[in-house]
Amino acid sequence: MSDDDHKGQHFATRLSHGGRAGTRIHGFVNPPVHRGSTVLYPSCEARRDAGARRFEQFMTYGTQGGPTHYAFEDMIAEIEGGTRAMIYGTGLAAVAVPLLAFLKAGEHCLMPDSAYGPARAVAEGLMTGFGIETTFYDPLIGAASLAALMRPNTKVLYLESPGSHTFEVQDVPALAEVAHARGAKVLMDNTWGIHHFQPFTKGVDVSIQALTKYVGGHSDLLLGSATVNNDADWQRLRSASSQLGQYASPDDVWLAMRGLRTMNVRLKHQEQAGLEVARWFEGRPEVLRVLHPALPSHPQHALWKRDFSGACSLFGVVFQPRYTIEQLFAAIDSLKLFGIGASWGGYESLALPTTGFITRNATSPDLGGPTARFHIGLEDIRDLIADLEAALSRLG
Ligand SMILES: *Cc1c(COP(=O)(O)O)cnc(C)c1O
Repeated sequence: MSDDDHKGQHFATRLSHGGRAGTRIHGFVNPPVHRGSTVLYPSCEARRDAGARRFEQFMTYGTQGGPTHYAFEDMIAEIEGGTRAMIYGTGLAAVAVPLLAFLKAGEHCLMPDSAYGPARAVAEGLMTGFGIETTFYDPLIGAASLAALMRPNTKVLYLESPGSHTFEVQDVPALAEVAHARGAKVLMDNTWGIHHFQPFTKGVDVSIQALTKYVGGHSDLLLGSATVNNDADWQRLRSASSQLGQYASPDDVWLAMRGLRTMNVRLKHQEQAGLEVARWFEGRPEVLRVLHPALPSHPQHALWKRDFSGACSLFGVVFQPRYTIEQLFAAIDSLKLFGIGASWGGYESLALPTTGFITRNATSPDLGGPTARFHIGLEDIRDLIADLEAALSRLG
């Protein structure tokens, strides 16, 4: 049975059966981890001919990947609805390399003001040094205003929806249409959307995910992916990745594959738990508003409903402006089940004050009160709410 036999089946079935065909060894369910640098050839002629196939799923040398990578690449490409995926050692590499692959000196990039902070740092750092200019735009920009920001040398429209920390939902099809009409590629950070946002049906050319989050799912690895939907984009991305020596450890890839097997169940639980906690926050007098696109109160809820088939369990909470940041810190410090830390998508809940960590230059970072980001894990929701209730009661 080949992996193609599962193409018409449902998501959960494909997560369970994908990446296993042809890799079964001695009858074991899971494929082994293939580690390796040197690849041996049967003859000098075979070695010479292999060079032409180095960007195919064909083993020529360790850096070009092996069976563990290829099985996982195929599963990620399928989740995103694209043709090929490149796996990177971190989510940030999966952001930086496509930007460098699709932009060169003298060109211009448009990036949402709400982009993941380290993505902004790439634009302001390496890209500026390489003579690539970036304009940060309001993530809620409309098509007409975006068209006005496009220059003849604008080659990349970068998207991230919902935005980091502020959770604005972008009108991806409308913005992508403007970019394509002017010959720019559309790159999107789809980490929040996972399989709930299908990028290639909405005009995205390169879809980026930090697999560190829900795909890994256990806070024990770092990985990223960039998926494309045609061969020309693949050649460009693969070539840049190869030049920059990008590679992911097969051990981490294997662990992430294991994460994928249970991702659908984890995500469904976390989506529901996240929504329940978000609704609970909405009912609290200490809270000004909750930044969760799946709540009807979210300003772009209709857009989220149109473009997403579900949500993950990461959202923001803006507290009443009468509280100081020190009060918010004290409340979060008192939580017993929520860790204080970055990253998300693991099995454990997290809380992170975001006021002071939100950099914006095209829009205001002020959300109306001190703000925190919450990630809901797999704990019993009754315990989580009891913990939050005790913490909020300290706010007074
Ligand atoms: C975490 C994250 C990344 C980067 O992933 P790392 O594996 O931590 O480098 C990129 N984009 C978003 C939206 C993220 O949350």
